[in-house]
Amino acid sequence: MLDLSIDALPGRYDRQERITWWNQDRLRRASVLVVGAGALVNEVLKNLALLGVGQIHVIDCDTVERSNLARCVLFRDADNGLPKAEVAARATKALNGDVDVVASVGNVMHLGLGSLVPYDLVICGLDSREARLWVNQACRKLAKTWIDGAIEGLRGLVRVFPPFGACYECTLGEADRRILANRRSCSLLTPEEMEAGKVPTTATTASVVAGVEVQEAIKILCGREDLVALNNRALVITGETLETYIVSYTEDESCLAHDTYDSLGVCVYDDNETLADLVLRAEGGTERRHAVAELEDDIVRSAVCNECGYVDAKPRRVALLGAGDALCPECRLPLRFELGRAFTLAEAASLVLSEDVLPNQGVVTVRSDASRHHYVASRGTV
Ligand SMILES: [Zn+2]
Ligand SMILES: [Zn+2]
Repeated sequence: MLDLSIDALPGRYDRQERITWWNQDRLRRASVLVVGAGALVNEVLKNLALLGVGQIHVIDCDTVERSNLARCVLFRDADNGLPKAEVAARATKALNGDVDVVASVGNVMHLGLGSLVPYDLVICGLDSREARLWVNQACRKLAKTWIDGAIEGLRGLVRVFPPFGACYECTLGEADRRILANRRSCSLLTPEEMEAGKVPTTATTASVVAGVEVQEAIKILCGREDLVALNNRALVITGETLETYIVSYTEDESCLAHDTYDSLGVCVYDDNETLADLVLRAEGGTERRHAVAELEDDIVRSAVCNECGYVDAKPRRVALLGAGDALCPECRLPLRFELGRAFTLAEAASLVLSEDVLPNQGVVTVRSDASRHHYVASRGTV
């Protein structure tokens, strides 16, 4: 007799599960952070949802514009002006109710590094070099793989950066490094500069590049890292001629981004506590007189105007500075900033841990003599 029960019908993922190395259960349990919510990420999210990747978190700070509609499968006319991450998450969830999709509206570079701990993998669809650098350093420290995609016109690039071998920073040329070093020391990139250089792209290029990004991701999430073709390599696709080739990156032994945490503890802290309170609690209360506490980001310790004598001694993360913050509020001349991220315990005793100084889930490193300990600082009730 013909079995007409629902269990007898092929399952939702039947066709992909016929691939011999496929592991749908691992995909269901997988957790992926997706950075950006533009043309590439629309395609990335669509693919992840169709394939049944269980937990997806998308972060982006932009809103939907009319010019996005020609490239973004998840956006509709009615979404104009709404946050891209939220619109994309809702539409992704509608594609497959099996998957959990969470949206964050914000800049990935403002996240505490510890926020990335829960994810198996990070997939990017960014057009900002600064954000790529941030993701690269964060993933390397946490020993996570990240996948980068880039599109321009009919050309595309996909590359996988595992926590070993050449990283994104290793791929940068001398000129790139000079620009970045310059920006890092003043780090006053305006939102306009970040937005600059909107490149021509099409839905087809986004679709091809995102397809390869997710295909590599699936191998990793299924536990088949041995199948990954693009570890420390880039697939370059030229849409006009359909010429494709692979570039292998060489590890730069002197690259400053190759710092991986050997261990990562957790420390809860209250509002209004100081960095010294946190260090002493994290280290079990033992007084370490020579300890130095280091934050993830450079902190503006003071901003001084040489012209009129204006002084702002309120500490702030450099990442939070806006375009106008570079100028003296009194005489509009450029301020001189004193930056630093390492504090002695005496200095740390007067540094209150507001959001301006340490993001929730930010990492604090305590160095003393020969030891180095890292803690995810979690804002809560002690
Ligand atoms: Zn590197
Ligand atoms: Zn001034």
